[in-house]
Amino acid sequence: MGGGPVLMLSIKQQHYRVHALVAEVFLGPRPEGMFVCHKDDVRTNNRLSNLYYGTHSENTVDSVRNGTHNNARKTHCKRGHEFTPENTYILKTGSRSCKACAQERNRQTKRRIRERRLASA
Ligand SMILES: [Zn+2]
Repeated sequence: MGGGPVLMLSIKQQHYRVHALVAEVFLGPRPEGMFVCHKDDVRTNNRLSNLYYGTHSENTVDSVRNGTHNNARKTHCKRGHEFTPENTYILKTGSRSCKACAQERNRQTKRRIRERRLASA
C-alpha cells in the first residue's frame, strides 16, 4: 500500500476505513488475502469507480505506474538541497518540504521588510 492519508469513519465507536466500506457494500465481501486498491492511487478518492480488490503486489504495481513511488525516490529538492531527515518537513499532505528552502524564503521576507522600513525612514 502507498502512503498518504486514509479517510476514517466512526460508527458507534467502531472505526471504518471509508474505502473498505464502499468496496464492501458495492463490490461485495473482500476476498481473503485481497486488498482494497485505488486505481489512481489517491487514497482519499473513494469513488466506487476508483476501487477494486487486488493483491498487495497489484497495488504496488499501481503506485509505481501512478508515479507515487518515483516521488518517494527523489533525494533532492528542486533547488538541489538533499532530503535528509534534518532538512525535511513532512507536510500534512504527506509530501516532503525542504527546510533549507523554507529558511531561505524566511530570510528573503525579512530582508524585504527591513528594506521597506529603511525606504520609508
Ligand atoms: Zn531546498
